[in-house]
Amino acid sequence: MVVELVAVGTEILLGNIVNTNAAYLSEKCAGLGLSCYYQSVVGDNEARLLETIKNAVGRSDIVILSGGLGPTEDDLTKETAAKVLGKELFLDENIKAQIQEYFAKRGTKPTDNNWKQAMIPEGAIAVENNNGTAPGIIMEQNGKHIILLPGPPNELIPMFEKSIMPYLKALQPGVIYSKTVKVCGIGESKAETMVQDMIDAQTNPTIATYAKTGEVYLRVTAAADTEKEAKLLIKPVVKQLKDRFGNAVYTTEEEVTLEQAVVELLKKHNLTVATAESCTGGMVAARLVNVPGVSESLMVGYITYADKAKHKLLGVKKSLLKKKGAVSAEVAKEMAKGAAAFSKADVTIATTGIAGPDGGSEKKPVGLVYIACNVKGKVKVKECHFSGNRMKIRESTVANALILMRECILEYEEELMKARKAKD
Ligand code: ATP
Repeated sequence: MVVELVAVGTEILLGNIVNTNAAYLSEKCAGLGLSCYYQSVVGDNEARLLETIKNAVGRSDIVILSGGLGPTEDDLTKETAAKVLGKELFLDENIKAQIQEYFAKRGTKPTDNNWKQAMIPEGAIAVENNNGTAPGIIMEQNGKHIILLPGPPNELIPMFEKSIMPYLKALQPGVIYSKTVKVCGIGESKAETMVQDMIDAQTNPTIATYAKTGEVYLRVTAAADTEKEAKLLIKPVVKQLKDRFGNAVYTTEEEVTLEQAVVELLKKHNLTVATAESCTGGMVAARLVNVPGVSESLMVGYITYADKAKHKLLGVKKSLLKKKGAVSAEVAKEMAKGAAAFSKADVTIATTGIAGPDGGSEKKPVGLVYIACNVKGKVKVKECHFSGNRMKIRESTVANALILMRECILEYEEELMKARKAKD
């Protein structure tokens, strides 16, 4: 089935807000096996919205609109979608009661225009909104489905997951099941080349690659009559991908993140960690703190942006800073070693680089970053050349710091195993 997404709101057209709903909905719809050929953004203008919805209904089976369900005059989505299908609006007493309850819980009173949100097109299904006052709406006519969702992501996402996904699943025969093989430290084009033969030969399951900063997701999707059959189809493909990518695969679990995989490795070997950050200014520590329970492993994070701080907090020699410059392999190494000496952590990770836009030179251009990782006295330094703006360079540094940490801990694990074997 073909789905089409329409985001409604002049704020999106003006670039005041980013259309994250489209990214979220596209990914979810792809996961459900729906094909999406068109997405659009339209402002709060009745004539253009009407035209957009008419076009969408003409060429797609399911049209999902987000935004413009609010109580004010310029919120037109519901009225316009109802017009396209020739439906009148009626007051829905249930929704009215839900809105009343929503305000009562917060100790406030609805205003008159809130009742606009209790008006539902005839024959439509009103979908409860647990996080706001605008109900979602599902309309169906002659095999075409129009779904209206509130704009705020904190309302749209829970509603989509609780009520819309089951509705969309029920529209399609069979099931769509997918599993993601998450790979780190390999660029997207290399990853794609490594699976090109599999992609060329694919029918069911299919493989799609998605690039993330420092990571690539390989999503394997199968269509079958039952979930059990789909899982059986997926299993050998996932195995083949794991064989090809080896250690670069850090998980096949949907919810596991790179930082989580790193923290799991630290915990597995009872290793403590400390960070020593310059250009990332605490972002590596912040990624680690994303993982609940990291307090067992994370001891301290040093943010040593100035040379003085690198010297004072990490013991990096002034002469070395002067001779090699703060952005150098030698300083990165000393930062990692210094963090270990001061914190007594087993693993330390250091970052130093030129995030730009200024500060670059011919010898040391913007994007040059050194990352050093120390695991129990063994230090590895990586020189990286990143592109993009300041934020992108810093995010790439963080991802690569996590990747290097993982790599070094895996090497430590291998050495442990070798030593154990030698003992036996
Ligand atoms: P409400 O449920 O609050 O009445 P609504 O359905 O009328 O909202 P809008 O008024 O269009 O939605 O948008 C409200 C807010 O939701 C926006 O200011 C923005 O923060 C967020 N939002 C709307 N559309 C999108 C989108 N496509 N992507 C991300 N955020 C969005």
